[in-house]
Amino acid sequence: MNTEQYTKISKELKFPTGAFIGGKFVNAISGKTAATTNPATGELIANYASCGVEDVDKAVKIARDLFEKGTWRTMHPTERKKILLKFAKLVEENTVELAVLESIDSGKPIYECMNTDLPETVHCMEWHAEYADKRYDEMSPSGLGALGLINYEAIGVVACVMPWNFPLMTAAWKIAPALAEGNSVIVKPAGITTLSMLKLAELGACAGLPEGVLQVITGSGSVVGKALGIHSDIDIISFTGSTDIGRDFLRYSADSNLKKIVLELGGKSPFVVLNDVDDLSDAVENAMSASFWNMGQNCTANSRIILPNNRKDEFIQMMVKSLDNWKIGNPLDPQFKLGSMVSEDHFNTVMKYIEQGKKEAKLVTGGEPLKVGSGLFIPPTIFTDMKNDATIIREEIFGPVTAVMGVDSDEEAIAIANDTQYGLHASLFTNDLNKAIHYSRLIKAGTVAVNVFCEGDITTPFGGYKLSGFGGRDNAKHAHEQYTEIKSTYIKLNI
Ligand code: NAP
Ligand code: MG
Repeated sequence: MNTEQYTKISKELKFPTGAFIGGKFVNAISGKTAATTNPATGELIANYASCGVEDVDKAVKIARDLFEKGTWRTMHPTERKKILLKFAKLVEENTVELAVLESIDSGKPIYECMNTDLPETVHCMEWHAEYADKRYDEMSPSGLGALGLINYEAIGVVACVMPWNFPLMTAAWKIAPALAEGNSVIVKPAGITTLSMLKLAELGACAGLPEGVLQVITGSGSVVGKALGIHSDIDIISFTGSTDIGRDFLRYSADSNLKKIVLELGGKSPFVVLNDVDDLSDAVENAMSASFWNMGQNCTANSRIILPNNRKDEFIQMMVKSLDNWKIGNPLDPQFKLGSMVSEDHFNTVMKYIEQGKKEAKLVTGGEPLKVGSGLFIPPTIFTDMKNDATIIREEIFGPVTAVMGVDSDEEAIAIANDTQYGLHASLFTNDLNKAIHYSRLIKAGTVAVNVFCEGDITTPFGGYKLSGFGGRDNAKHAHEQYTEIKSTYIKLNI
């Protein structure tokens, strides 16, 4: 498909704008709405319901009643699986509409929405749906005089509070395992990217999810997010977002019902090239994705590239050369791999970091906003020659900004890689298997990707060490642990 076709679809799109509560799209009780715009054009897309505490209370009551009634929780896992697979199928069938909606609401390039976000969302939904009737419970080694059953029971009412950078994909990461386990799920999408989640909920209803199993409460974090956080009838908050708001959720929990909190937070991930790598081309290609994919608005962005001092200049030259593959422009034009920053606020934050970087480092390329209509475009920006305590090395920028650092040994590279308060991800390039294993063991991060930039796949758990989060993992069978309680039943036997 071409730009004209995608643009035509964007003009004709039909999507809900009410909150999805109790199986219906409804206005906020207060009648309030909030606007969501297309950051690539500045145009208003829609006004959606801006919910308040009373809407949260209403949705939580529906979720709780349904959970206690057991409509979804006690359904045979194979039946739940069938509905969830149908849900995934409907998402697949609506790929183009969802991809366009995601692109215009967030500024993400349609190329990525079509080739990554939507296929990954569908794959994730299918994988967890399949797992619904494949997980076994356990029996304890309690001897012949007793039977110890260890069961994983649905936890209850799950609230998922979402970021804006991968709205559909991160939502699938949470709702797919939570629903597969039989919970009642409430989602609060990020205010600036609400629309694809509402469309997703509509498809869930079409697939046959009982009313109230999946609800979406739209509105601001400070109102809806907080109301969910302090609600005493929610059993878990699964949160993906910034470390600061993650801390707020821990406080909300402490001040209310000690609900479980799972935090997937920020990062400042390293990309390490060890000194045995002769041909740098593969590492360079991956470093570009690691730095600039999704305009760097990526929690696993590798924004500290660490490599031998004697290869640094060559590496930087190769990166600059490969910028040709990272063209930036109209997100609805499939030739562009890079689109707009998500919002004016975020654009300003990233530009401030770039200005700071110009004071503390040498700017290699980029560094000035790009004029494309009235959009918010920042080109790939590379810095080098800064100290390890520079702001752009310490803080998460969440934009297309990366820094290349030279070191004198592999040991120094790993020490610098670990010299961060975060621990979400790392990439490690080497041709030596022994080094790959040795150094990946030394890196303090939830995921170490060797000779590739990626987050693993659906079968590998994802989450962080240190300030990057705790409490559970997304993806893989481990995601299901978030959404279950362990029940031990100990039966004395008279034999
Ligand atoms: P954010 O500001 O923390 O927002 C995340 C969510 O929390 C949004 O839904 C937001 O709602 C809500 N929120 C905001 N203030 C709140 C409050 N006082 N109480 C309760 N909820 C509140 O983060 P973001 O800007 O969306 O995302 C960027 C951050 O997410 C980065 O640090 C990034 O590294 C991290 N991230 C991590 C992962 C991961 O898997 N580890 C993935 C993606 C992103 P509103 O937006 O409506 O205000
Ligand atoms: Mg928007």
